Amino acid sequence: MKLAKRMLELEESATLAVSARAARMQADGIHVISFGAGEPDFPTPTHVAEAGIHAIRSGKTKYSKPASGVPAAKQAVCTKFARNNGLSYKPEQVIVTAGGKMAVFLAVHAVVDPGDEVVIPVPFWVSYPEIVKLAGGVPVYVAGSPSRDYKLSPRDLASVLTPRTRMVVFNSPSNPSGVTYSPEETHELARVVEERDLVVLSDEIYDQLTFGGQKTLSFAACGKAAYEQTITLNAGSKTFSMTGWRIGYAAGPKPIIEAMQKLDSQATSGAATFTQAALVAALTADQDCVETMRAEFEKRARHMWQRLSAMPGVTCPKPTGAFYCFPDVSGTFARLGVSGSTAFSSLLLEKARVAVVPGIAFGLDRHVRLSFACDLASINEGLDRMTGFLGG
Ligand code: PLP
Repeated sequence: MKLAKRMLELEESATLAVSARAARMQADGIHVISFGAGEPDFPTPTHVAEAGIHAIRSGKTKYSKPASGVPAAKQAVCTKFARNNGLSYKPEQVIVTAGGKMAVFLAVHAVVDPGDEVVIPVPFWVSYPEIVKLAGGVPVYVAGSPSRDYKLSPRDLASVLTPRTRMVVFNSPSNPSGVTYSPEETHELARVVEERDLVVLSDEIYDQLTFGGQKTLSFAACGKAAYEQTITLNAGSKTFSMTGWRIGYAAGPKPIIEAMQKLDSQATSGAATFTQAALVAALTADQDCVETMRAEFEKRARHMWQRLSAMPGVTCPKPTGAFYCFPDVSGTFARLGVSGSTAFSSLLLEKARVAVVPGIAFGLDRHVRLSFACDLASINEGLDRMTGFLGG
């Protein structure tokens, strides 16, 4: 069967692939501890789920009108951005999408022409490079120094900008590293790009999940120039444990949002209407449920980070947001007789029945990603197995 050339270049999502392999082993009766998940282990909060159910029962089961999001959902998104991010957007600057991933897809395709360069900080969420390549864009990778937990300095960012740079991706807190830029660090990067004719895609999907009093600043809140060149992206997925509802949103300059809306009208016809009703409940009701989940993630983050840091040959950036640890395990490679993160992860799965995601999928082959979106008992069991595997 002849497939389109673009399919030859496209990688399957590595994170979904690991979850699938661990699930197959589980189905065969093997007890695997999976640290592969990219989704919260909590149920969707009851009031959010009820809003979706009520919407279905009351007939909100037709096309979204308009496809770019029903008025109540766009208004709720504006309310969220004003409340949490100090960002003032009008409903016509908002698009509601079938998940955060679709918002990334639309933003890139609305802005990037074939041959345009897109700066992607390393380590990166697996889908950025693939989506950029699908649009014909050229990913340009840049990593900060390990001593800064790979966060870009202004000089790092400036060093990769060229006249062909059309977009810079910014993801803080980061998947996979759990590292978060401070407001000052974000400001410094904003100053580097403010004079340039480029768009910043600020993926803030983990903005409500930060730890240890870590402060954050939305890229678009760095000033007038930043506001005018940034697409701010978020979703119900991580904050409200709504991954299966498929609901995301973005806001930014009107011409870009309108282009995204046009594209989405030909792609998905918008997010499901009852899912949008659930998003309205999530974004506008009391935010206590978010704090409950965040506090639990914070406990797990500290625990997992401490235990990983105590393992021989392992060093780990301290997660200050999201729900991942991203340890450098290269100090164990010689002892284990492996040469990279894929072989490390395969051996760990085979010998210790612990699933992690190879760091190479995120651009750093010395690391692996462990999600702590699972209960403390499983975290401890998995880390006990890993300690035994590493001979600690
Ligand atoms: N952006 C980042 C950084 C993510 O980690 C993810 C999901 O893992 C997404 C976007 C996509 O989220 P969604 O499930 O809403 O499509």
